[in-house]
Amino acid sequence: MGSLGAMLKHPDDVYPLIKLKIAARQIEKQIPPQPHWGFCYTMLQKVSRSFALVIQQLPIELRDAVCIFYLVLRALDTVEDDTSIATEVKVPILIDFHRHIYDREWHFLCGTKDYKVLMDQFHHVSTAFLELGKNYQEAIEDITMRMGAGMAKFICKEVETIDDYDEYCHYVAGLVGLGLSKLFHASGTEDLASDSLSNSMGLFLQKTNIIRDYLEDINEIPKCRMFWPRQIWSKYVNKLEELKYEENSVKAVQCLNDMVTNALSHVEDCLTYMSALRDPSIFRFCAIPQIMAIGTLAMCYNNIEVFRGVVKMRRGLTAKVIDRTRTIEDVYGAFFDFSCMLISKVDHNDPSASKTLKRLEIILKTCRDSGTLNKRKSYILRAEPNYTPALIVVFFIILAILLGYLSGNKPHSL
Ligand code: CA
Repeated sequence: MGSLGAMLKHPDDVYPLIKLKIAARQIEKQIPPQPHWGFCYTMLQKVSRSFALVIQQLPIELRDAVCIFYLVLRALDTVEDDTSIATEVKVPILIDFHRHIYDREWHFLCGTKDYKVLMDQFHHVSTAFLELGKNYQEAIEDITMRMGAGMAKFICKEVETIDDYDEYCHYVAGLVGLGLSKLFHASGTEDLASDSLSNSMGLFLQKTNIIRDYLEDINEIPKCRMFWPRQIWSKYVNKLEELKYEENSVKAVQCLNDMVTNALSHVEDCLTYMSALRDPSIFRFCAIPQIMAIGTLAMCYNNIEVFRGVVKMRRGLTAKVIDRTRTIEDVYGAFFDFSCMLISKVDHNDPSASKTLKRLEIILKTCRDSGTLNKRKSYILRAEPNYTPALIVVFFIILAILLGYLSGNKPHSL
C-alpha cells in the first residue's frame, strides 16, 4: 500500500488503494485447481502483479489465452536477457522458440529468481498452451516466431538510428500489440485492428519503459544492453552513460525531453485504437496501461530525477487509474489532463520545445474534438480538497479499522 505520508497528502487515494488491495486478495483466492493452470496463474502474479490484475476481468477463455501468451513471451524474453548464454546457443533458441511451445518435454535452464522457475517448469505453460483453441494457438505461435527472429537479429546489432529503435520496439512490444489484437478478434468480440495501430499501442508502452528505466538499465551488472538510439543521444553527449553524470544535467534533461517527444508521436494511434474497442473488459485491459504510460511520461518529462533515481506514478494514483478507467471518455480525460501537465512543464529554451508542444497540441485537440471532456472525472490536476482537523481524525479512525481488517495479509507491491 502507499506510504502513510503519501496517503495524507492525497486522502482521496485511500479508497481506490483499499479497493485495489481487496482485488489483489481476490485474485490470490482464484488460482485454478489444475496444476498446469495453477502454475501459470501463480507465475503471472509473480512476474507481473499489475498485469495479473488487469487480465483478471477478461472473459475466461480470452484470459487463459492472454495469460499463456504473456508467459510464453516472458520466457522468450528471459532467454534474450540472459547474458550468460553464448550467442551461438541463444540465437537458435530464440528462432525455434515458437516450436518449443508445442513440446511438453522441452525446457532450457536460464534466468534468475521467478524467471528461472518459469523456465524450469515450462512444461506447465506448454500443457496449458495445448489446451487453448486452435486460433489462439496460431496467433501465439506466429507472434512468438516473429519476436524470436527479431530478438535474434538485434542480439548482435546496436540501436543506432530512430528506425532501429522503432524496429526493435516493434519486435519486443509492437508484436505484442498485434498478437493481442488477434486474440481479441479470435474471442469474437472485436474487429481485427490494423497492424499499424496495434503496433503503436505496444511502442508507446515500450518507449515509456525504456525512458523511465534509463538509470536502472545503465547501472545493471552484468551490463544490460541499452535501447536509447544513438541518433538521439549523440546530439547531447558522446557516450550514453555520460547522461547520468551531474555535470551533464542540462544535456541529460534535453535528451530526455527529446525521447519523450519521440514517444508522444504514438499517442494519436493509441487513442484511435482504443476508441474502436467494444468489449468493456478488453477496453479496460488496454486503456489502463496506456494511461499509466502517459502519466509516467508526464512525471519523467524535464525531470533530472530520471538520471538519479526511480521516477514513477505514486501507488495511489495508479490505484485511481485502475479504479476509474471505464470508458473512452475517461481515456480522453486522462490524456487531456496529463498533456496539460506536460505543456506546463515545457521549458521554451529546450531544443525540442516546439516539436513537443506541437505534438501535445494535437493530442489536446483530439481529446477536445471527442466532445466528451466536460463529462470526465478529472482526478489528476484537480486541487486537493481542504480537510478540516475533524475530517482528518475521522480519516485516521477509518484507516485504523481498515488496516486492522487487512492485517495478517503481507504487504505486496503492485
Ligand atoms: Ca529483453
